[in-house]
Amino acid sequence: MTKKISIVEKIHSANDQLAAENKQQLNQADLFSLNIMASPGAGKTSIIEKSLELLKSDYKIAAIDGDVATSIDANRAAEAGATAVQINTGGQCHTDAHMLRNALMELDLDKFDLLLVENVGNLICPASFKLGTDKNVLIASIPEGDDKPYKYPAMYQDVDALIINKIDLLPYVKFDMEYFQKGVQMLNPDLITFPVSCTTGKGIEAWVNWVSEHVKDKKVS
Ligand code: MG
Ligand code: ZN
Repeated sequence: MTKKISIVEKIHSANDQLAAENKQQLNQADLFSLNIMASPGAGKTSIIEKSLELLKSDYKIAAIDGDVATSIDANRAAEAGATAVQINTGGQCHTDAHMLRNALMELDLDKFDLLLVENVGNLICPASFKLGTDKNVLIASIPEGDDKPYKYPAMYQDVDALIINKIDLLPYVKFDMEYFQKGVQMLNPDLITFPVSCTTGKGIEAWVNWVSEHVKDKKVS
């Protein structure tokens, strides 16, 4: 009998191996890291900018931005106070552990307390390519609609924190928060959730405090 391993399985196990190596490297540097995922336009870069604004006086922060093309997001992160590295995926629709490893080589990891990785805007494959970061964070946003947990369950199942961005738009957009949260609850009970608005600043402090607590925990552990 021939044992068949699909090409997809091979790709995923190679990625998992590299993710484990990344994790080890980040741990050695006591560097707390987040993999930030979302659909395009949900506000990944805006959340990173807001986080930098409130955390840069306390911590040394690096940002790695994955995009299909351009350095727009890394430039925004650098402008907001991070040491930023841009990954251009050359058309690939997610950031993988190998790309992160290459980006980590550009940074003197011991110098930083916090690493923010902005994944490529996509609600499908980033879920299955772990990077080796401490936590996976998903950003949903009000204009995307309340059905996203039902349509993209894999993204919601595996993450450690959920940001619901653009809550300032709730009065103008049809979005049933109860229906949305019921969907999240089904997939990931007790998922810590931060409703925020990058425009008004509402809820940002709670999010930033959560990040800060983890940065401190990583330092003493
Ligand atoms: Mg962005
Ligand atoms: Zn992909």
